Amino acid sequence: MDLSLSAEQKLIQETAGRIAAEVLAPRAAELDNTYSFPTENLKKLAEAGMLGMLIPPPFGRGGASTLSFTLATEELAKACGSTALSFVTHVSAAQGILIAGTSEQRAKYLPALAKGEKLGAFAVTEPNSGANPMALEAFAESRPDHYLLNGSKAFITNAGEAAVNLVMAKTDRAPGPQSLSLFIVDSDLPGVSFGKTVRRMGFNGVSCREIIFQDVKVPRENLLGQPGMAVPLTMGIGALAALGAAAISVGLAQAALAASTTYAKERKILGQPIGANQAIQFYITEMSTAIDAARALLQSAVYLRDTSPPGPPIPALKAKLFASEMAVDVTNRALQIHGGTGYTKELPVERYYRDARGVTLHFSTTELIKDLLGKIALGLFP
Ligand SMILES: Cc1cc2nc3c(=O)[nH]c(=O)nc-3n(C[C@H](O)[C@H](O)[C@H](O)COP(=O)(O)OP(=O)(O)OC[C@H]3O[C@@H](n4cnc5c(N)ncnc54)[C@H](O)[C@@H]3O)c2cc1C
Repeated sequence: MDLSLSAEQKLIQETAGRIAAEVLAPRAAELDNTYSFPTENLKKLAEAGMLGMLIPPPFGRGGASTLSFTLATEELAKACGSTALSFVTHVSAAQGILIAGTSEQRAKYLPALAKGEKLGAFAVTEPNSGANPMALEAFAESRPDHYLLNGSKAFITNAGEAAVNLVMAKTDRAPGPQSLSLFIVDSDLPGVSFGKTVRRMGFNGVSCREIIFQDVKVPRENLLGQPGMAVPLTMGIGALAALGAAAISVGLAQAALAASTTYAKERKILGQPIGANQAIQFYITEMSTAIDAARALLQSAVYLRDTSPPGPPIPALKAKLFASEMAVDVTNRALQIHGGTGYTKELPVERYYRDARGVTLHFSTTELIKDLLGKIALGLFP
């Protein structure tokens, strides 16, 4: 595995880093405190071509590598976790249409998603189903010229801001994964509405709302892939979402480490910097090593995604599992190094911790990933 970056990958990393430092970082605390959606940040990313970076011609101008995507995500997360999560969600939704869409669906949706004229969301979770899609209740009844969609989705990132939602719903009353299908649902279809914004512990800048579907007539041509194919399709989309989540974790942890290193040198007690204490030195070393390990696992998962045949995204899920738990640990230690000051809103360290905590719950939880990977390892899945 070649770990060197191509000229294009370096350029994308630098561009994301520049936008993160100049545009995202100065607004990150305010977005977090005011629960404001990062519209302006996403506009700047769209202008730089970042929102369509994985969408190739003729639908976009991108076609960048998966590694470019994770490098960019890490840079964004260092400055603003909310913008990074919104970005990953959008790119993953667009990727779903790129992977599974018909030529008509691609032509209809991808150009606007690539330019950032429209934002994407990915809606699976429901109030009564949680982490397990087998418990979904949203139902799309097959009618001659449309599917009649009823139900609701909860905790959806970008909800209400996104114009295009990938929605998982049952199309068959029978139990089992073959009853689940994926649809492209436009937010402006009659019967689509949004619940109030739920205030979370972290990722405060990302809208987190319920989406309600009441007798929504989803055109038949908006079925993504074949009926009953939601689970395999979600594996493909989920691989990118998992890699993005891992990259957010690495970015948050890296920012926390950088802040801690600076603070350990600047904060003096009795004339001595706190970094002169071995306890703090150990923390810094352990944090740095853990970040390196997570980043290496992420890079190897990116490499395997690009070079392996389709299948369950095991390396991507391992990277998400490891990196998200690592980020909780590293940001927690960063807070400890900052003492009481770290526990205040004066510094971004507490925000890094709150955002990192959300990644272990986002998309597929730590427990669900362990459960799935354990079953695969023991030959119990599918
Ligand atoms: C920041 C953030 C962003 C999100 N964005 C989106 C989004 O864009 N789209 C979307 O669809 N959802 C989104 N979610 C929702 C997220 O996917 C769910 O929170 C997650 O799937 C868990 O569902 P739940 O909260 O209902 O927990 P539950 O399913 O109720 O689970 C509660 C606890 O039980 C554990 N558990 C459940 N089943 C098992 C099992 N079989 N074995 C062992 N443990 C189990 C879980 O791991 C968890 O710890 C987001 C969540 C967060 C925090």
